[in-house]
Amino acid sequence: MAEEHGGRRRPRLVLIASPLQGHMTPMIHLATFLHSKAFFSITIAHSELNPPDPSNHPDFTFLPLRDNLSSTSDFAGAVKFLQTLNDNCKPLFKQHLVNIVNAQKDTSSSDHQKESTVVVIYDNLMYFAGSVAGDLGLPSIMLRTSSASFFPVINIIPQLHQQGRFPVQGKDYRFNCFAFTDGSSEIVPELHPLRYKDLPFSGISIEQTLETINMIIPKTPPSAILWNTLEFLESSALTIIRDHYKVPVFTIGPLHKIIPTPSTSFLEEDTSCITWLDKQAPKSVVYVSLGSLAKVDEKISIEMAWGIANSNQPFVWVVRPGSVRGFEWIEFLPEGLVAEMKTRGLIVKWAPQKDVLAHFAVGGFWSHCGWNSTLESMFEGVPMLCQPFELDQKVNCRNLSDVWKIGVEVVVERGEIEGVIRRVLVSKEGEEMKERALEIQEKVKVAVSHGGSSQNSLKELVEYILSL
Ligand code: UDP
Repeated sequence: MAEEHGGRRRPRLVLIASPLQGHMTPMIHLATFLHSKAFFSITIAHSELNPPDPSNHPDFTFLPLRDNLSSTSDFAGAVKFLQTLNDNCKPLFKQHLVNIVNAQKDTSSSDHQKESTVVVIYDNLMYFAGSVAGDLGLPSIMLRTSSASFFPVINIIPQLHQQGRFPVQGKDYRFNCFAFTDGSSEIVPELHPLRYKDLPFSGISIEQTLETINMIIPKTPPSAILWNTLEFLESSALTIIRDHYKVPVFTIGPLHKIIPTPSTSFLEEDTSCITWLDKQAPKSVVYVSLGSLAKVDEKISIEMAWGIANSNQPFVWVVRPGSVRGFEWIEFLPEGLVAEMKTRGLIVKWAPQKDVLAHFAVGGFWSHCGWNSTLESMFEGVPMLCQPFELDQKVNCRNLSDVWKIGVEVVVERGEIEGVIRRVLVSKEGEEMKERALEIQEKVKVAVSHGGSSQNSLKELVEYILSL
C-alpha cells in the first residue's frame, strides 16, 4: 500500500457520517474510494443511531459517538434533531480527535518521518466536526449530499424573508407576496424556473427556517467542499456556490457509481422483487418509493394505492414500516384493494433500489425526488414521476420536470395519478422523456469513466488532500 508521499506518511482521514440513509450511503462510498483507490487510512466517526456495519468494512476504524437519540422518527426533519445530534456528539468527538492527532504524531516520530496531518471530512449535517477541526487547527472538508441547486435557494431565503416574499407559517408572519395574486405558483425571479411553492421549509416557523439555514451554511467555510453532483448537470448552481465559498469545490457524483460497496441500507432489502421483476415485460413496471424519511398521510397513501391500481400497470411499491402516519405498515389499505393490487404487483417494506432501477422491467420511478434517488434514476436512464415533500426535493422536482425534462409532477388526486403513470410508461410523451433520460444517462456515464469530470475531480481531490 502506498502509505508515503514525499517522505511523509499519508494524512489519516477522519470521516464523520450522518445517521440519515441518504447521507450515510454517499459517505461510505467516498470512504471506500479514498481507501481502496487512494490508499488513505480511514476512521469513520458516527452516531449510535443508524450506525454503519463495521463487518462490511474491515479496513476502516469505527468510532461510535454517544448521541442520546432514540430513533430518527422522533426528530426527523426538525431543527431540534440537528441541534441535539451535534451538541451530543461534539464533546466525545473532540476527545477522540485529540487522541488520533497525538497517535499520528507518535507514529510519525517513531518512523523518523515528517509529521503527517489528520484531515476531517464531515457530512454538512454533522457541522460540529467542522468547528472541532477548526479549534484543533486541522483542515476540514465538507461533504454535501443534496443537489447543488438547493444552495442558491436556501442562501436567498433570508433576503426573500426580509423583503416579505418568503411564504411562511407562524404567528407573526403571513405570506406577504404583494406582486401576485395566486402567490405560490409565481416564479421567483432570482431562482428561475423555481416557483414560490418550490421553496423549502413549508410548515415551519421563520425562526426555525433561518436557524436551519444557519446550521447548514457554515459561517466559517471549510477548507474545501465535496458535492455529490455532476458538473454538467448543475453548472449554474455550482458557479454560485464557488463564488460564495471561495474554496475548492469538487463535484464527485454520483458517488454510488464511483466505487461499489456492500449494502449500506439501515433496513433489510426485500430481494424477492428482483425475481418478480425478471418475469415482467421490459419497461412496463412503475417503481414507487418515497425514500427513507418521508411520512405520508393515510388519505394520500390511499389515493396513491388507487392510482397504482387504476393504472393497470405492474408495480413495485415500497411502503416503509411506519411511513404512513398512524399505521405500522399497510393496514390502512382496504383488504379488497390489497387483493386486487397483488394480482399486478408487489408491496414491499424496503427494496434494493439501485438494482430495481437498473432492471430492464422498470419503466418509471415514482419518487419523492431525494437527491440520491434522483441520481440513481438518472444513472439508469429511468424517467421519474415526482412527488416531492421537503428540502431539496421540490427543487429537484422542478429541475426534473422543467429543466432536464425527464420527469412529471404527480398530483395526488383520484383520477389524476393513473393518467400520470400511463403518460410516463406508455405514451409518446413518455417515450420522448425516456430518450432524454437515456441522453443524460450517457453523459453521467462519461463523467464517471476515465477522464470524465467526476473522475478528474476525484483525482484532484486526492492531490488536494496530499497537499494539506
Ligand atoms: N432506498 C433503498 N430502498 C428503498 C428506498 C430507498 O435502498 O426501498 C435508498 C435509495 O437507494 C437512496 C436512499 O435510500 O440511496 C434514499 O435517499 P434519498 O436522498 O433519495 O432520500 P431520503 O431518504 O434522504 O429522503
